[in-house]
Formats: sequence, structure tokens, C-alpha cells
Amino acid sequence: MTHFSVKSSSHPQIKKNFDLTSFNTLGLPSKAARFVEAFSTDHLLKLHEQAFFQEEFPFVLGGGSNVLLKDYLDISVLKNSISGKKVIKQDDSFVWIEAGAGENWHELVDWAVEQDFGGIENLALIPGTVGAAPIQNIGAYGVELDQVFESLELFDMRTGKLHTYCREECGFGYRDSIFKHELKGRVIVTKVVLRLTKINHIIHSSYRSLNDFLRENNITKPEIGDIFDAVVAIRRSKLPDPADLGNAGSFFKNPVVERAALEPILHEYSDIPYFEMEGEVVKIPAGWLIEKAGWKGRRVGNVGTYENQALVIVNHGGATGEEIYEHAMRIKASVKKLFGIDLVPEVNIVQ
Ligand SMILES: Cc1cc2nc3c(=O)[nH]c(=O)nc-3n(C[C@H](O)[C@H](O)[C@H](O)COP(=O)(O)OP(=O)(O)OC[C@H]3O[C@@H](n4cnc5c(N)ncnc54)[C@H](O)[C@@H]3O)c2cc1C
Repeated sequence: MTHFSVKSSSHPQIKKNFDLTSFNTLGLPSKAARFVEAFSTDHLLKLHEQAFFQEEFPFVLGGGSNVLLKDYLDISVLKNSISGKKVIKQDDSFVWIEAGAGENWHELVDWAVEQDFGGIENLALIPGTVGAAPIQNIGAYGVELDQVFESLELFDMRTGKLHTYCREECGFGYRDSIFKHELKGRVIVTKVVLRLTKINHIIHSSYRSLNDFLRENNITKPEIGDIFDAVVAIRRSKLPDPADLGNAGSFFKNPVVERAALEPILHEYSDIPYFEMEGEVVKIPAGWLIEKAGWKGRRVGNVGTYENQALVIVNHGGATGEEIYEHAMRIKASVKKLFGIDLVPEVNIVQ
């Protein structure tokens, strides 16, 4: 199995006025006052010794696929590039894999499927790093990370100590975790452990577009490799590749509202899609609301809303973080006016 590697000089290098344009998938021009890349936990400990965390906690950057960066960040940015992946334990049914926070998420999924380890195939092609996956409890095609999550190791910037957090301690919810609340901005995830199946894989194929794809391709008994291939094909057909068109995936979360708040909307829009959830609340696809508000495929200057998916805001070239932010706020205001629903950004706004 692959082993952890330390691709680094022994001391982390702090750089000034660092250009982050190629470090965010929206392709926004942005500079950080101070920038450092950590390739190991040893680097984090050294930075702590140098009192790097004393004045301010740096913003922790992974693959930059879920951030909106303003043009000048008068802060420190720490890029997490801790690599390595390996099997740490197994029994007859399960395997526990550990991956460094800076590993590419999709490559981990690909590797797992190749070894016939099941559980994360529905999360194929989500951009970004392993360390960011627990932050918003990434999810797609009927699966969320917490279903396979075992534990993570984090570095506490306040104390300079490493701690292990198990699933129950992470407070996972829909695109949510303790790292967006109590621990926001204070910790750096250094590695993640997942528990995957070795046999009797659980196939999650009921998500509508996935199910349709499998049926259209006559796949009646899908294996995890079929799910992986299907998810990759669907995502490629629906979402813009950030390498071609800058974007950060879904810009807003799907709003969760009280059942009672849905009733008046249903009177006017009987076709509104929604999913019943526990506790008299429903989740409404934000993309549908944005489309109904007239934003799908609409362009304002350098910024637009993707033609095939209204939830994705795109940089047509030359956009700034401010322009993207203003566009998002215009969309938010339209949806509020039309439906009385508050959209909340899923993307992390960094300024
Ligand atoms: C085309 C596209 C499709 C997408 N599809 C999905 C999808 O289907 N489902 C989904 O859930 N998301 C999706 N996303 C969003 C994004 O890919 C995920 O949120 C991903 O986990 C972000 O990883 P990252 O490494 O790029 O994080 P970044 O964007 O660099 O950071 C995101 C947040 O995590 C924090 N963070 C990052 N690394 C660490 C760390 N090691 N320790 C502590 N905090 C950290 C950052 O401070 C920031 O607050 C999509 C994005 C794009 C561009």
C-alpha cells in the first residue's frame, strides 16, 4: 500500500504578497499578504514554535474549490499539502484507510474503487482535498461523507497540539460540521480515516439521475465501479470543469424551510420540487428557485450563472471576487423577493 511521504524542505517557507489566482477554482485574481505551504504535521509544529499562530490564525486553504477570494487578503493563508494514503486496519468485512489532508479527494475515491473498497464511489469527481471533505461533510448522489467517516486528526492552532476527533464529535449535518461553528478557523485537519466495505458493498443508486443513467445503460446490478463511472459521466455532462470555466460548484446550500412556509409557495408554484425531512421541514433545490427567478444562464459582465445548472456561478473570464459576490447577492435578493426564502452561500467567502 502507498505510504506517507514528506515532500518538503525541513522548514516551512513564509512568502509575502503571494498570488493565489491558480489556487482557487473560480480563477479569481487574489493576493495573500502572507502564504505558507505545510507538507507535514512537523511543519505545523515548527510554525507553532516560530509563533506563526500567535498574532492571527491563518486561513486554511485546500484545493480552493469552495472559496470566494477577494482581490487582496491582508491575512496569512496556509495551504495544506500533507500527502499520503494507506490502509491502517482491516477485518473480514471492512477496511480502514487513512489519507493526508492535502491528498486530492477524487484520486482517493478512484484509488479506493480500484482496490474494490466501497462507500465513497458516489462522491467521485468532487474537487478539492481530503482535509476539506469533513468541513462541509461533502455529499453527492445520495451519499454524505459522514456515512463512511471514522475519525480525523487535527492540529489546534491555539495550543499547537494534535487531537483525534471521532464521528460523533464532528457534529456532521447537511453541508455542515463543528468546523463551521465552534472550531471554525481554529483548527487544521491533518488526516482523515474512513471505514470502507471490503465485501457486501452497499450500492446507493436511488438518486434520480443516477438511477436513470443506470437504466438507460442497461446496468441492472451495479457494482461500485459502475456507480463510480456513472457519477463521473453525469457530473461531466452537468457541471462545468473549473479548468474550462471558473466556478466553485453549488454557490448556495439547498434551503431547508418549515413545511408551513412551503404551503403559500405551493399555491402559486405547484411544480416546486421538495424533499420531506425529519421534523416538519422540507429541503428545496436552490437551483430550481434561482432558475424560476430568471437567473439560469444569465450573464452580467464577466460573471454569470451556468446555462445547465442555475446553482453554479461562473467566471466568464476576468471577474473579480467582488463581482462574483455582487452577482450572488443579486440572486439572493431575487429569490427572497419571489419566494421569501433566504439563500445561504455554501461557498466560503474569504476577505
Ligand atoms: C465543479 C465543482 C463541483 C462540486 N461539487 C460538490 C458536491 O457535489 N458536493 C459537495 O459537497 N461539494 C462540492 N463542491 C465543493 C467543493 O469541492 C468541496 O466543498 C470540497 O470539499 C472543497 O475542498 P477544497 O480542498 O477545495 O477546500 P477549499 O475550497 O480550499 O476550502 C473550503 C473550506 O474548508 C476549509 N479547509 C480546507 N482544508 C482544510 C483543512 N485541512 N483543515 C481545516 N479546514 C480546511 C477552508 O478553510 C474553507 O473554509 C464542488 C466544487 C466544484 C468546483
